[in-house]
Amino acid sequence: MAAESPLEPGLAGRHALITGGGTGIGAAAAAHLGAAGAKLSLLGRRLEPLQAVAEAHGGLAIGCDVTEPDQIGNAFDEARTLNGPIDFLIVNAGIAESAPFHKMTRESWDRIIGTNLTAAFDCSKAALSDLLKSDNGRLVFIASVASLRGVPYASHYAASKHGLLGLMRSLAAEYAKTNLTVNAVCPGYVDTPMTDQSVARVSQITGRSEDQARSVITDMNASGRLVDPDAIGNIIAMLCLPVSRDINGAAITIDGGTSA
Ligand code: NDP
Repeated sequence: MAAESPLEPGLAGRHALITGGGTGIGAAAAAHLGAAGAKLSLLGRRLEPLQAVAEAHGGLAIGCDVTEPDQIGNAFDEARTLNGPIDFLIVNAGIAESAPFHKMTRESWDRIIGTNLTAAFDCSKAALSDLLKSDNGRLVFIASVASLRGVPYASHYAASKHGLLGLMRSLAAEYAKTNLTVNAVCPGYVDTPMTDQSVARVSQITGRSEDQARSVITDMNASGRLVDPDAIGNIIAMLCLPVSRDINGAAITIDGGTSA
């Protein structure tokens, strides 16, 4: 996948920092940005998947829990020391849980908002001065179709992803006269470990087999298939190209027509 990107070598020498870069959408973004010539810094809590992606596409694997501001500071400093100022920040790390609202705990709410929204604030602040100094700064949030509509049994997740769009649109407006663009990608259900976990949860709660549970989730995409993470990685890399500088404040849905 990496060697065949049509984007090569449009991003040569640029520094892309990807949170949650070891798996799923983050790993696909690393493949496309790496193929286009970007230097990669990959952050996450587990080093093993980060190292595997770094070995495949080049780059640094940096352990970091994005819910811990001190760890963000240290990880971003390490990334800068080795890869230089950050040109592209891909805010991708996220978690999902599900519960009916009457059973949703404050701990679960805090975990979801903390990881999906507050950490996006902290990471954006940590990279901002670099992004504004770059002649081609890019901030890309991985939001969701759950940013665009309510989601039964995942009100905390939907609230966190709606918040991400509010943050994205506000920063896009605030920095519109600079070289920084701020955009979001809003996927439907994607073929990643997060969806595997959703399948397992549906199976456990409903008593359906894993195959049946996967069909239920797959059918929530209008296309009747899961989105390929590669498609998301490709769009993220395209947003980082200099030619995309007038794409600012966009929420790009990649959901097989679900939001049509
Ligand atoms: P994955 O579970 O594969 O990716 C999530 C990544 O986030 C993991 O690499 C994980 O690494 C990292 N992460 C989670 N918590 C933290 C944390 N506290 N600190 C640092 N890293 C963290 O699933 P996806 O690739 O699907 O998810 C990527 C993004 O896409 C998420 O924001 C998700 O909400 C969004 N999304 C996913 C959809 C889907 O259907 N899969 C649909 C729409 C949006 P580690 O555990 O090692 O920390």
